[in-house]
Amino acid sequence: MRRIQAREAIVVVTAVAMLHIIPGYWYPRSISLTHHLPATNYYIQMLSPTPLVPIRLEDGPEIWCKLDFLNPSGSTKDRIARFIVEKAWRERRIARGTTVVEASSGSTSIALALVCAQMGLRFVAVMPEGVSNERVKIIRAYGGEVRMTPRSAGIRGAIAETERMAETETVFLPRQFSNEDNAAAHRFGTAREILNDLPGGAVDAVVSGVGTGGTLVGLYRGFCDAGCRVTPVHARPIEWSATEDAECCSFSTRIPGVLDSISEIFSESALPGMATVEVRGDEAMDTTRKLMCNGFPVGPSSGLNYRAAQLVAEREELHEGVIVTIFPDRMERYFSTELFGALA
Ligand code: PMP
Repeated sequence: MRRIQAREAIVVVTAVAMLHIIPGYWYPRSISLTHHLPATNYYIQMLSPTPLVPIRLEDGPEIWCKLDFLNPSGSTKDRIARFIVEKAWRERRIARGTTVVEASSGSTSIALALVCAQMGLRFVAVMPEGVSNERVKIIRAYGGEVRMTPRSAGIRGAIAETERMAETETVFLPRQFSNEDNAAAHRFGTAREILNDLPGGAVDAVVSGVGTGGTLVGLYRGFCDAGCRVTPVHARPIEWSATEDAECCSFSTRIPGVLDSISEIFSESALPGMATVEVRGDEAMDTTRKLMCNGFPVGPSSGLNYRAAQLVAEREELHEGVIVTIFPDRMERYFSTELFGALA
């Protein structure tokens, strides 16, 4: 009798453990799984992983690229939007009708607008004036609301506005710049997908531009989890100064989504041994156009990442190594920007 009970207990424990492995993602055990995601209309959790492909331009090095522009809203931010909102839903911190508010220069807002549309949540994007018109229209198309903050206050002004709103209204703030689940979405999602698809399953260097830092930190942690000895590489866009006496170079703001030191997730202690590769803004744009000419419909941060990865490949110690980068979003978001200027 006692033996049967023990066997039943093992079956129950195994079943509960299995339930914690949600397709593509892993949730901490403390989360209740009884609060199911919406059963109707909710399709995004059924989508397959994005492809990982080796790309060589002209006779340059081979770089393994994760085509994250193929996510449903067109960017890698679908991953963090899903991870954070689904987790909050399962933990009953949000429910149908809750208002989600996020500060973002674009991609995260678009992703959250889509996820909220799917889950019956209200969404308000707070953005600095000056983001491309396409982004605003896409958010509105998903039923989201857009509030603009002064351009001069930048993304920091938008973040401050969301915190102000949270003081007076009942809202859920995903807080992509400080929420560790941003990195967790990449650690348990993107990194595992890459390792599954990579012949040999080992990465020597991972290269990414940094906005929140969630992508670089999450990928680095995911690869370390699998035992890879991987160098994290920060792709940093810069502008050269035209005058001799001015500083040599400053951070380039021409690459949307890539920001200078504003995140709490991105730090040297989170990325031990990190290397930084600087890429000129115009080089990033040229590389983006080359990628488009090769049939990759990507935005400027993909050109930045790819060019930085090419520069990493020139380094002796990584010459034969596997270099992985990510293509974060799609070209259609940039029709009204300098990326398409020459084609107008
Ligand atoms: N590229 C684009 C287009 C982005 O929108 C972002 C993030 N806002 C990044 C790159 C950088 O990714 P992360 O925030 O994970 O550092």
